[in-house]
Amino acid sequence: MKKLIEKARDKHFLTKVELIELLECKNIEINNFLFSTADIIRKHYLGEQIHLRGLIEISNICNQNCFYCGLRNANNNIKRYYLEPDKIIKTAKNAIEAGFKTIVLQSGESSVYKLDQLVYIIKEIKKFDVALTLSLGEKSLEEYKTYKEAGADRYLLRIETTDKKLYKQMHPNMSYSNRLKCLDDLKSLNFELGTGCLVGLPNQTFESLADDILFFKEIEADMIGIGPFISSPNTPLENATNGDFLLALKVMALTRLLLPDINIPATTAMETIEKNGQLKALCSGANVVMPNITDKTICKNYSIYPNKANLNVELNKIKALLTNKFSTINRTISNDHGFHNR
Ligand code: SAH
Ligand code: SF4
Repeated sequence: MKKLIEKARDKHFLTKVELIELLECKNIEINNFLFSTADIIRKHYLGEQIHLRGLIEISNICNQNCFYCGLRNANNNIKRYYLEPDKIIKTAKNAIEAGFKTIVLQSGESSVYKLDQLVYIIKEIKKFDVALTLSLGEKSLEEYKTYKEAGADRYLLRIETTDKKLYKQMHPNMSYSNRLKCLDDLKSLNFELGTGCLVGLPNQTFESLADDILFFKEIEADMIGIGPFISSPNTPLENATNGDFLLALKVMALTRLLLPDINIPATTAMETIEKNGQLKALCSGANVVMPNITDKTICKNYSIYPNKANLNVELNKIKALLTNKFSTINRTISNDHGFHNR
């Protein structure tokens, strides 16, 4: 088993069968070797600097009904909101003044913002010295093109799972082929492309997780976000078992070995489900952290899953707090935009 990890470390390649073998492995020593090897590869390719991305949850209004997500349209138990464009721009400005070099705008999938409003928001934020990421769900090629021309740099759209049958079960009225088309469109427009998957969905297999990792390599993603599934109230999966932290960490570490120079966040879901999950992820291949910078009174309604791990400090204190936290693992915060250098 160690030989397989060494092969992945040296060749950045594993077959599906080899990936499944490692994913299934329950041996603590082997798994720890996987995590420490992913850490070495991260250090070798990307150094000790952690990139911060300031996440603004601009709206929880969503037309979709993903089975796992608390923002799904059929959930009538949450208060829906959207932030006014000028409020978004103000929050971004404050974050940039507080030292953030990337802003991420995320929302449910809806048309609550008209295209010209989004163009306005993108252009205003891009007047600052900052990289801008969008995560607004599936849109048309024309819409993506308009965002790119307005100045957006990156787009996050997780494939969620490459198991087509499971994808269909989890996403009523959505199509796997359109998901792929969106990712292709984003790639063709030269966005830095972020995708990723959930780990621990009901009926998800090791085989399909191996496929997910190979898919990330195949589409040449620039960023991969991997999070454990966390059961959310008022969804069809409210009684389902949560995903396993260690398995999510293994999917992440294997992704690091196969895509050695990409950006990989220590996701909020990892911190939510496991004490010090974020630091553990940062020591197992991750090099990015995405603190939530949405107004505290508002983001409580962005309830994708319960008890989301958020920092309880003002925006201008986040960088100092994280500088301290990361110093405990001998890491620093980067002062550049954190683009993916191929
Ligand atoms: N609407 C956009 C962005 C918001 S959702 C989109 O769907 O792309 C952002 C991510 O939250 C999703 O990609 C999904 O992987 C994750 N997510 C949703 N529900 C979750 C849950 N119950 N547990 C863990 N992650 C979840
Ligand atoms: Fe909407 Fe995204 Fe949640 Fe699906 S995952 S219900 S698209 S917010």
